[in-house]
Amino acid sequence: METDSLTRYSEITEKNRREIVLLRGSGCKWRRCTFCDYHLDFGPDKDSNFALNQKVLKQVTGKYGKLEVINSGSFVDLDNQTVQLILDTCIEKRIAEIHFECHWMHRESVAALRKIFAAHGIQVKIKIGVETFDNQYREQVLRKGIDETSPAKIAACFDEVCLLFGLDGQTEDSMLYDIETGLANFERICINIMVENTTKIRPDSSVIDIFMKKLYPIYKDNKRIDILLNNTDFGVG
Ligand code: SF4
Repeated sequence: METDSLTRYSEITEKNRREIVLLRGSGCKWRRCTFCDYHLDFGPDKDSNFALNQKVLKQVTGKYGKLEVINSGSFVDLDNQTVQLILDTCIEKRIAEIHFECHWMHRESVAALRKIFAAHGIQVKIKIGVETFDNQYREQVLRKGIDETSPAKIAACFDEVCLLFGLDGQTEDSMLYDIETGLANFERICINIMVENTTKIRPDSSVIDIFMKKLYPIYKDNKRIDILLNNTDFGVG
């Protein structure tokens, strides 16, 4: 994947309005999800990652008071200088709410991150990719690496959840269950529709049709739900 041509700054102007940046870290430490190839956006060199992240963070204006940071992995994969610069940017631009991503395996690092930002009155929201609450499908087919089956226990360290729809075997009922379980246990959910990528997992157009006809009309205006019909719909990537 040619990662230097990626768009790394954008604004989400609907629902939970926020700026969003795609930063570069040392790479996802799980890297086994069978549907994922965006973990290829990483760099082993802290200094060059920081140089890139510095340029991207300069574009943040603070206009919505909220910023989402994604980095094709978890916040723990960002170098310390970048985390400090994110904090400094929030303080300088009066950003009161910051969103990060985190894999289940790093959940014990979440509390310390919240504390660092809370010391400056900034609220941290952490998003976990669960993809589905069908545990067997999630672990045997998608290989997410979440060894917990209770949605409430998964949600204990996290605020927001990503779901992945448009996969072979999913049904209207299974997607409905995932959405309602997500809404019952998390503040917000983000639905990603599977798109063609370099992995062997293919989007299933009949499942996507079911989602679009039956579920999209019901949930599209729900302010607690982001729906990405294409994985670049947030304007980055
Ligand atoms: S945890 Fe996220 S970045 Fe890592 S392999 Fe899975 S989906 Fe990709």
